[in-house]
Amino acid sequence: MANAAGAVAPVGELSEAATPITTPIAIILFGSPGSGKGTQSKYLVEWLKIPQISTGDMLREHIRQGDAIGLAIMDRMRAGSLVSDELVNQLVFERISQPDCNRGFILDGYPRTPTQAEEMMRLLAARGSSTGKSPGEVVIHLVVDYNVIITRMSGRRVCPKCGTLYNAVSRPPKVVGICDLDGSSLTFREDDREDVLRERLAQYERQTRPLIEFFRATSDRLIEVDASRETPEAVFERIKSELRGVLGQNQFGQDRARA
Ligand code: ADP
Repeated sequence: MANAAGAVAPVGELSEAATPITTPIAIILFGSPGSGKGTQSKYLVEWLKIPQISTGDMLREHIRQGDAIGLAIMDRMRAGSLVSDELVNQLVFERISQPDCNRGFILDGYPRTPTQAEEMMRLLAARGSSTGKSPGEVVIHLVVDYNVIITRMSGRRVCPKCGTLYNAVSRPPKVVGICDLDGSSLTFREDDREDVLRERLAQYERQTRPLIEFFRATSDRLIEVDASRETPEAVFERIKSELRGVLGQNQFGQDRARA
């Protein structure tokens, strides 16, 4: 829910009744590091009023808290390697069991391996049989050129408080180094260092990109959007129109009146 300053409300404040969609959907945002999954997730949260589930954010939160999970995954994350399927599957399972996910959710950064993809399909099917309302999945693939990613990620900054993403070139804050929304000092992610980024991209090519074939085979709702050339806003407009296309306009009860 956007407040007067245009910020996106924390997930806990999202009102179920306010979502414009009429049946639950699981949106899977798929794309390499730097393809814009985090930014598009935030637009989708604001539009659809369903929560974003970012496995990267959840894992970083464990590291920040310094708990047992955080300590166990810290080295792998710092090196740009994936953490275990077992752990991520468990975190996602617990998160989507919470009531704010009943109307759907946006998966950002999950699934990332064939084992995770199979587990996700099983979880979605199990939800359907326990609640009678299986969230139909829609996969959105953000397609971005490798060189564009390297340029983009080297200028990336993030607000540690509200999570807003900035980019020195394409999306600078009004005041250098300061978040427009809450005045916090911007930071950059430790794993955005160029050598670590190259490792993350290599992992993506090896383990994650092949999942596109899995989605092509298992889902008839795969949207592929070129996210290299246009602004994030323009990419989002494309996503909206494609989503309306695959879901059918009658999915957008309240939104239709406003369109
Ligand atoms: P990006 O997509 O830009 O790489 P994320 O924030 O999604 O950034 O992920 C950061 C790191 O968190 C990954 O490099 C990996 O170590 C870990 N991670 C996130 N999601 C998963 C996942 N689904 N499976 C395994 N590791 C993950």
